[in-house]
Amino acid sequence: MNCRCDAFAPTSDMLTADQARDALVASVTPVTECEEVPLIKASGRVLAANLIAARSVPPHDNSAMDGYAVFACDLLAAGAAGSGGTIRLPVTGRIKAGQVLERPARRGEALRIFTGAPVPSGPDTIIPQEVCREENGHVTLPAISKGANFRHAGEDIATGAVVLRAGIRLQPQHIGLAASIGLDRLAVIRPLRVALLSTGSELREPGQTAGPGAIYDSNRYVLAGLLRRLGCTVGDFGIVPDHPEKLTTILIAAAAEHDLVMASGGVSVGEEDHVKAAVSALGALHFWRIAIRPGRPLAFGRIGTVPFIGLPGNPVASMVTFLMFARPLLLTMAGATVRPPLAFPVLAGFDEIKRPGRREWMRATLRRNPDGSVTALRFPFEGSGILTSMTNSDGLIDLPESVERVVCGDIVNFLPFSELLD
Ligand code: AMP
Ligand code: MG
Repeated sequence: MNCRCDAFAPTSDMLTADQARDALVASVTPVTECEEVPLIKASGRVLAANLIAARSVPPHDNSAMDGYAVFACDLLAAGAAGSGGTIRLPVTGRIKAGQVLERPARRGEALRIFTGAPVPSGPDTIIPQEVCREENGHVTLPAISKGANFRHAGEDIATGAVVLRAGIRLQPQHIGLAASIGLDRLAVIRPLRVALLSTGSELREPGQTAGPGAIYDSNRYVLAGLLRRLGCTVGDFGIVPDHPEKLTTILIAAAAEHDLVMASGGVSVGEEDHVKAAVSALGALHFWRIAIRPGRPLAFGRIGTVPFIGLPGNPVASMVTFLMFARPLLLTMAGATVRPPLAFPVLAGFDEIKRPGRREWMRATLRRNPDGSVTALRFPFEGSGILTSMTNSDGLIDLPESVERVVCGDIVNFLPFSELLD
C-alpha cells in the first residue's frame, strides 16, 4: 500500500475537504482478492466482476395480464378497433404460467392466457379478462390497441448485456437481478478488515464503573456500526490508554492482521496525544490541516505498509470525519465504486455568519412546509462533543468554502444521513 500523502505535510497550506478526501482515496490500493458466495449471502458485498446475462429476461414473450391473447388484425378486420365495437371469437386454447401452447396459434381465435404465461408466435395483443365476456366457448372482446399487455422476450435484460458492474455494493434488487438470469453464486471481493481502537486514559467500557474523571467510550460503538454497515469486518482492539508503549504494542498487533487501522482520539497537539508519535515511529504519519468544521484534527499515515487513519476524539467530529473522509477511503479500499452522496436543495431555516474558506457541515432536521417545500432547521448546539446533535438530526447541511453567510430562506444543500450511512 503506497502512501502519497507526503505532499500534504503540516507545513503546506490547509487542504480543502475535497483535496483531503481525494488525496486519501488516491493513496490506497483496492483489495482485489475475491471469493464466491451463494446469492443468499451476497447482500452488502462488493461485486468482483461485471455480470453478463447468459439468458434474456423475460426469456419468452408473455402476458402481463390474465385475459385473452389475440391477433390485433382480427380486431381491425372485424371493425372493432376505434369504433368502440366488440368482436366475438372462439376460445380455442388455454395457456397457464409455466406452460407453452403445443401448436401454432391461428388467426381468428382467442387464447385464454394468464399473467406470465408464454404468448405463442402470432398473437400480439392481450385483452384483460375484466373487459371480456366468455360464454359457450366464445368470448366477446372490445378493441384495444395493438401490443397492449404484451411483454416482449428480453425487454428487461437482453442476452449478452452487462447487467451489473464490478464494484457495485449488492443490494437486494441486484441480487434479485442475478437470480433472474439464473445465477446461484456471485464472485465478490473479500471484506475489508479494519482494526478499530479508541485512545484515551479517561475512557471506560460501557458496563464498567466509571469513576471520577472517566467517561464511557462511545466512538468505538459508532465507528464499529459505521464500518459494519459498509461491509467491513471489524477487529476490536478496545480502549488504549494515553501511554506511548501500550499504544505502540496495540498498533503493531492491529496492523498485523488488518487492511487498515482506525483510531479515534489522541491526534490533537496536546502532550497526552501520543498517537501521532507512535504511528510516525512505526511507519509514517501526516497530520492534516483541513479547513472544515466540525472535524479537525485528522491524521493519516501507515503502520509498516498498512494505512492508518486517526479520527478526532470528539464524538461528533469523529462521526462526521468518518462519513466525509473514512467512508470514501474504505469503499475505495473495499473495491467498491464510490458514488458521491446526493445532496438535496432545501431552504435554510436560520441565519448564520460563516467563516469563508472553510467547509462546514451543520447538523439539522427537516421540516415540510405547507407549500410542500422543505426547510432545514439547524441543531441549536454546535459543540463537537454533543452526540445528541447527531441523534436528533436528519443529516448535515453542507456549506461550501465560498459561503460567507446564510440568510433564512436561502437554498442550501442537505445531506441526509441515509445518503452517508451506507
Ligand atoms: P482527544 O482527541 O483525544 O483530545 O479527545 C477530544 C475529546 O473527545 C475529549 O473530550 C475526549 O474525552 C473525547 N473522546 C475521545 N475519545 C472518545 C471516545 N472514544 N468516546 C467518547 N469521547 C471521546
Ligand atoms: Mg484523548
